[in-house]
Amino acid sequence: MQYAANSLENHWMPFTTNRDFKSDPRLMVKAQGLYYWNHKGEKLVDASSGLFCCAAGHGRKEILEAVTAQMAEIDYTPHFQTGHPSSFELARMVAKITPDNLDYVFFCNSGSEAVETAIKIALAYHVANGEGQRTRFVSRERAYHGVNMGGVSLSGMMRNREAFGAVMPGVVHLRHTWLPENRFCIGEPATGVELAEDLQRFVDLYGPRSIAACFVEPIAGSTGVLIPPKGYLKRLREICDKHGILLVFDEVICGFGRTGKAFAAQSFGVTPDMITMAKALTNGALPMGAVAVSDKIYNTVVGAAADGAVEFFHGYTYSAHPAACAAGIATLKIYEKEGLFERAAEMSDYFLDRMYALKDIKAVSDIRGYGMLCGIDLAPGVRPGLRGYDATKRLFNRGLHIKFTGDAGICAPALVAEKSHIDEIYQIFREVFSEY
Ligand code: PMP
Repeated sequence: MQYAANSLENHWMPFTTNRDFKSDPRLMVKAQGLYYWNHKGEKLVDASSGLFCCAAGHGRKEILEAVTAQMAEIDYTPHFQTGHPSSFELARMVAKITPDNLDYVFFCNSGSEAVETAIKIALAYHVANGEGQRTRFVSRERAYHGVNMGGVSLSGMMRNREAFGAVMPGVVHLRHTWLPENRFCIGEPATGVELAEDLQRFVDLYGPRSIAACFVEPIAGSTGVLIPPKGYLKRLREICDKHGILLVFDEVICGFGRTGKAFAAQSFGVTPDMITMAKALTNGALPMGAVAVSDKIYNTVVGAAADGAVEFFHGYTYSAHPAACAAGIATLKIYEKEGLFERAAEMSDYFLDRMYALKDIKAVSDIRGYGMLCGIDLAPGVRPGLRGYDATKRLFNRGLHIKFTGDAGICAPALVAEKSHIDEIYQIFREVFSEY
């Protein structure tokens, strides 16, 4: 595909160094399986499943066909007081793979919207439960919960917050769980469970009945793959239970097999009250997010409303868009048919073994991995983030696509990856990281 050199100007690109990018663009024009092709015709191995979306690999015909058929039949219907059968089918399929009693699914269009939706569900639940004074939220340093105002308030990343003022009031942050003594630890770190006691300190400080919910990514993904210390999530669950606080797992990255089970909640054996999800829900093919909530939450909110009254004043024009639902249904069918969650669990050892073999490279200062997700820290260069940015470009020029946050590369190949793909990724990492 051709592009005119002067045609890039008008798109203000997200999370991008626009001027730099436009002087030397990296345009992807084709994708299939584990590979992208750029506008120069060069092939790149995709080490991040796009942005952790394309778990079944790019270019899945089943999804294309399902979406095409759906669009031919019905392009759009609102889901406010009308509906379309596919959303019920997809909700049933999602509820089937979520843990325990997370049986009700609210659809939206992205991970950020899923987070906003979960914030509002938490508030609505407490109001319906006669505890409307619960308006505080707890999240964590180094968390990423999307870019809308609620999610930015929950997020624990200075660069994502600093330009936007005080945002939503009443949010406090647990300490993050990266501890220097756990560097290069494989899987769940043995130490750090005591960091969960930060939640108890907030309860003691603000009063147990003032906190609505505690949001955590089971594994903090975007900020470099921070694996929860052993027993940490279980302890958060205990404190939440004791004080009537809802526990929300943001599984926008972890969900749909990344940790070797459908959800990280199952990998770590802890059931939250809500799970936010997006990305791999449609294999990245169309935008879609969702929140799975417990029977208790659904029944409380829906049950509290008067007959004939809308129970929850929230939703999007494109909630449960038929095309996105069709993509979601086709995607979940692929995951099941190809056993991709189990495959991720099986391939994880090989994948992590290869990634941890990068440990001897001088510039690699830490590696953390779980399932098919691995964070690789490069020792910072002149200032934090510059080396990561430089590495992104060098890797691209050697034929590899990856998402870096600051100096942390986040490797998450598609769950259909073969050992040969992992070897290829490993080899390019080794060559490029050794240059520092
Ligand atoms: N939550 C988490 C844990 C995420 O990783 C992301 C995206 N990386 C989001 C929310 C936001 O998702 P989106 O970009 O689809 O809005």
